[in-house]
Amino acid sequence: MGMYTKKEHEKFIEAGKIAAQARDYGASLIKVGVSLLEVTEAVEKKVNELEGDFAFPPQISLNDIAAHYCAEPGDKTFFKKGDMAKLDVGVTVDGYVGDCAVTIDLGDNEQLVKASREALDNAIKIIKPGITLGEIGKTIQETIAKHGFSPVRNLCGHGVGKYLYHGKPTIPNINTADPTKLEKGQVIAIEPFATSGAGMIYDSGVGNIYSQIAKKPVRNIITRQVLKEIEKFNNMPFTTRWLTRKFPMFKLKFALRELLNYEIIKEYPPLVEKNHGLVSQAEHTVIVDDKVIVTTKVESS
Ligand code: MN
Ligand code: MN
Repeated sequence: MGMYTKKEHEKFIEAGKIAAQARDYGASLIKVGVSLLEVTEAVEKKVNELEGDFAFPPQISLNDIAAHYCAEPGDKTFFKKGDMAKLDVGVTVDGYVGDCAVTIDLGDNEQLVKASREALDNAIKIIKPGITLGEIGKTIQETIAKHGFSPVRNLCGHGVGKYLYHGKPTIPNINTADPTKLEKGQVIAIEPFATSGAGMIYDSGVGNIYSQIAKKPVRNIITRQVLKEIEKFNNMPFTTRWLTRKFPMFKLKFALRELLNYEIIKEYPPLVEKNHGLVSQAEHTVIVDDKVIVTTKVESS
């Protein structure tokens, strides 16, 4: 089937299943007064128990932060009344990626949550070999608009692959009229974001998610030790907190700065909505087929 073998598709399905279970477990823990770090670590523990690896660190982004907030070591953020929390979980099995996200509303903004969720459902409904990327974007945009919100236009869904968490094609959240057609067997993540704001995000502040983008020798002994650990992530994103289990923070900070300067690693800062509107997100990974397979859906849900 398509560009992957049956065995490879089974690994995508396995990864999706683990990501979905960890997502649902994490979502059940998000409550007023609970810490973001606690939920993040519980999600990580669940993925480990289910014997998945991470496609990227679990992220919980609040309110006007659309994505890329990952708990810091000792993070003191607590969920509070009114928060809109996006939990994004990415898992690999032998490198094959499952990527999914859900929004938990701790306020009174259920319509905004519904907007992205329905947009995702409607997009999945029309997915089949031959559908164009423009048609998917149009469906997402129209569904979100129907609820009175805007899609975030500069965030997109994407293809996934083996040790590939963001690949081609780019799945738009607006009608781009892109005539590119989906092909049978392709594996893609669809992720509509809906907002009460402008529908644009920008990089904000300093991040703590990185990925390796080049292989170069480094001279400094500390940096070399840290790089050796980073290489174990197979170019997949990682977070500072994971490395603090092996290195003291001051050494780590030095090494990460050096690796950034050498352009051996890349940083992913938090993505904030331009007008600071609330942002909701829904995401599934699917295998394109005449009858689409949603890999990140738990059977009962
Ligand atoms: Mn995701
Ligand atoms: Mn994604």
